[in-house]
Amino acid sequence: MKKILVQKYGGTSVGTIDRIKAVAERVIASYNEGHHVVVVVSAMSGQTDQLIAMAHKISNQPDEREMDMLMATGEQITIALLAMAIQERGYPAVSMTGFQANIITDKAHTKARIMDIPTEKLKNELEKGKIVIVAGFQGVTETGDITTLGRGGSDTSAVALAAVLKADVCEIYTDVDGVFTTDPNVVPEARKIDRISYDEMLEMASLGAKVLQIRSVEFAMNYGVTIHVRSSFNNTPGTIVTREEADMEHVVVRGVTYSKNEVKLTVMGVPDRPGIAATIFNSLAGANIIVDMIIQNISEQGLADISFTVPQNESQKALQVIKGLVKEKLGARQIICDDKISKVSVIGIGMKSHSGVAAKMFDTLANEGINILMISTSEIAISCAIESKYTELAVRALHDAFGLDKQVS
Ligand code: ASP
Ligand code: MG
Repeated sequence: MKKILVQKYGGTSVGTIDRIKAVAERVIASYNEGHHVVVVVSAMSGQTDQLIAMAHKISNQPDEREMDMLMATGEQITIALLAMAIQERGYPAVSMTGFQANIITDKAHTKARIMDIPTEKLKNELEKGKIVIVAGFQGVTETGDITTLGRGGSDTSAVALAAVLKADVCEIYTDVDGVFTTDPNVVPEARKIDRISYDEMLEMASLGAKVLQIRSVEFAMNYGVTIHVRSSFNNTPGTIVTREEADMEHVVVRGVTYSKNEVKLTVMGVPDRPGIAATIFNSLAGANIIVDMIIQNISEQGLADISFTVPQNESQKALQVIKGLVKEKLGARQIICDDKISKVSVIGIGMKSHSGVAAKMFDTLANEGINILMISTSEIAISCAIESKYTELAVRALHDAFGLDKQVS
């Protein structure tokens, strides 16, 4: 039986007509190696943003079903153009929308989850010898409404197709050479990581690395799909994202990430008694606000300060919730909002079996004179909230301290 190859090309890889022609050549080369090829494409770069901007010129809160109808058009353009480019070179190709490819999702418009992909139609086309080009990012509900999978969702479309088609590997083509030890714009010595475990990739993606949509990594982990993140601009092998391998733990820290989109809220002088934290965080959860780091200081006279961080785009909502609470039942002296906060993190499954990583991280930041405002840890990551202006300095110092410019991963 022929092998099935799933390739996904992101927005910059199909950003111009010339780029689309180059992708056609690459797809044909894989087809000529004797594989069945399924290609998933994003919209041309900037297209989805433009569609969203148009909608917001009409309404502050456009209907989500109509947003999906609108956003799904971006990918419909690229599938058709790529199919034409392949046909023009004398090869058989057929484009399919999410609906035509049977990508069935739930009804959660703008952030839908894939429920099922009956593969009969796809396989029929492959059996006919065709290169199948599927629109990423979109699906359809059981009742026929078009949905989208959240920003960056084409990665998840590709991984899901690789899972149901039992492809050996899902190749994600992008505009960088792979997953890096940190952002090369901040640290020029950053290296491409050759192999990384799903868990590490999930932490990297959640903590600030933007190469893959988080959901696509979760999907790959649950279904055992190997992902190969690589550049569509050259032939260099990229980064393999796969299950944990025996020697992966030898590397204590695999990468350093940062996120500048953090806001710290401090509720000063709340009564220090049972139920206060529960009240605050239940109210935030009730408003669907995701809280990241939390810290509580015991101050004098039975009053405590509670600080926590939230994503920047939710800070106003969080502030309203807290103000409401203070008025109604909480009683607090003051609320402070600090938006000049960043989070820097070190990640690696080697932390499970090596001690001293936190100490080294804190030492490194101290040596640079950077004050740590908050700390949070998981089994394979340590994060510190710091003043934003020190972000780049912190990332460079940590990358250096953990020898990431030299390690062989
Ligand atoms: N075009 C969509 C976006 O810009 C999906 C994707 O590119 O993965 O978010
Ligand atoms: Mg993307």
